[in-house]
Amino acid sequence: MTTAELSVAGVSVTFGDAPALDTVTMHAPAGAIVGVVGPNGSGKTTLLRTIYRSLRPESGAVLIDGADITAMSVRAAARTTAAVLQSGAGAPELTVAEMVGLGRNPHHALFSRDSGDDREAVAAAMDRTGVTTYADRSVGSLSGGERQRVLLARALAQHPRLLVLDELTNHLDVRARFELLDLVRSTGITTLAVLHELDLAVRCCDHLVVLNHGRVVATGQVLEVMTPDLLRTVFGVIATTERHDDEIVRIHYAARPLAPAP
Ligand code: ADP
Ligand code: MG
Repeated sequence: MTTAELSVAGVSVTFGDAPALDTVTMHAPAGAIVGVVGPNGSGKTTLLRTIYRSLRPESGAVLIDGADITAMSVRAAARTTAAVLQSGAGAPELTVAEMVGLGRNPHHALFSRDSGDDREAVAAAMDRTGVTTYADRSVGSLSGGERQRVLLARALAQHPRLLVLDELTNHLDVRARFELLDLVRSTGITTLAVLHELDLAVRCCDHLVVLNHGRVVATGQVLEVMTPDLLRTVFGVIATTERHDDEIVRIHYAARPLAPAP
């Protein structure tokens, strides 16, 4: 599976008169896992929406392998980028296999029957995410963690070159979070992941993009970005980072005091 390089160049989005994204520029090299972090309302979901074409920015451009996504057909864009969103599964009555099968839609003509390739892609995605044993269960009957695996399976069945994940790991227990992100890494697909838990972000991402009030306030290698100063000024917490072998292994939060609200 080939994987894409993503560039976001000066993207701005305004809702009403409030800017949600203000000239956001970022880059994800091919095969990297890039974490998008920031306080609530900082623009993380909005940034992702501009990348999977659910929202057209007022200015700036999103480039995949150097090509502006607005120049792609809807189907070509859907074959390139797969998203797992906060809003979840919808359609709880579908079986797991049917839900994962939806990932094949961009690959076949409308109303055409599933091909052998489709069935193979669905089976491989279910196998990889460990959901084959639930294939005939309804999506609505699954636990939160099982459902997230199914949504990831649907995204993988799409054979995307870019994965966009919005809080994929929310509501999962701590082990399931690491397992799911390990699974994402094992695919080798370039991934942009909004992560709420900073501990997870520092351990699972190659690069971070930090948003605050719709602006990129820091971007780069995890080690360079996740500093006590940033934790204080952006997240409003007093914290230190514990480092081993040039990796951040833990963020220690002081019980109090909090920094003044950022
Ligand atoms: P995050 O995902 O970082 O929590 P969002 O990208 O969802 O933040 O939102 C960024 C800002 O844009 C927030 O102030 C939010 O209220 C606003 N916003 C997001 N989507 C819409 C929308 N569809 N209409 C109006 N305002 C929106
Ligand atoms: Mg969000």
